[in-house]
Amino acid sequence: MTDSQKQICPICHNPANDIKIEDHRNQYYISCEYCGKYIINGHKLLRELCIKNNFVNFNKHDPDKELSIIIRQTYEQTRKEVYLTYEIYDKLKKEFYIPTNPLEIIDKIMEYLGNKVNNFSDAIEIPKKDIPLLFLKNEKDLKTMLIFLKNLDYIDYNDNQTINCFLKLKGWSYLARLHSKSDSNQVFVAMKMGDDEALNNLYINAINPAITSTGFFPFRIDMEEHNEKICDRIIAEIKKSKFLIADFTGQSCNVYYEAGFAMGLGKPVIFCCRKDEVENLKFDTRQYNHILWENDADLKEALINRISATIKK
Ligand SMILES: [Zn+2]
Repeated sequence: MTDSQKQICPICHNPANDIKIEDHRNQYYISCEYCGKYIINGHKLLRELCIKNNFVNFNKHDPDKELSIIIRQTYEQTRKEVYLTYEIYDKLKKEFYIPTNPLEIIDKIMEYLGNKVNNFSDAIEIPKKDIPLLFLKNEKDLKTMLIFLKNLDYIDYNDNQTINCFLKLKGWSYLARLHSKSDSNQVFVAMKMGDDEALNNLYINAINPAITSTGFFPFRIDMEEHNEKICDRIIAEIKKSKFLIADFTGQSCNVYYEAGFAMGLGKPVIFCCRKDEVENLKFDTRQYNHILWENDADLKEALINRISATIKK
């Protein structure tokens, strides 16, 4: 590959930040501003994505904007490279929920603007790389959504070279309502964080797909320990979540804290624990009808059943 050839992300076809190839292990590490960081493993998947071994030409296929959304969302939630084999790719494509109703996407965009604004008189820039973060496929969809928000009088928006908008008073009051009401689609996931690979896989293979396939959005803060600032954020995120999934495997104090806080607010909590750890629970939470699981598939199925049976959409 020559220096003048810019390497292309095989999913979204934008220029990639970095592509590393580990040929002997048949693995490709890709860092893309739009899709996040991910690893492609295996020739079958490479063929599916039509990589012609050089990451430059992709004439045959259109970019896969849906996959770009899925990978970026998963990356932002886990802050770890998304590991893609053909099987995982196939599963994500079938199971990941991407909203298509603009009313659902409005919440996501307003949240995003609310998180980005520093001062109420500042313009907020939306860089193009954040389009998949907003569950949108392209700039045209983003602009359509911004026009909707402008017509609702939530924002001012000018279509210039860069996309800038400004939150209006009605937008601020919509955000306040969004944060106080619990009819959002967000689910707070409380579980042990850190480098435990089994638990990280549990999130990717069981908890995340169970939440998205029942029409909700997961929220997980990835960190080792709470500090003051993150605590405020956790409280705000639990407040605006509809319910909470707490997995006690690994016995993290944070999980007890978060589950207790949600219960205090009267929010439903789904208690989970790996079967062989149930004796280690710090207090008798058995009265709460735990999901006791043995493997990822177990937990996923039980969560889908429990969410469908107990949580009203
Ligand atoms: Zn990409």
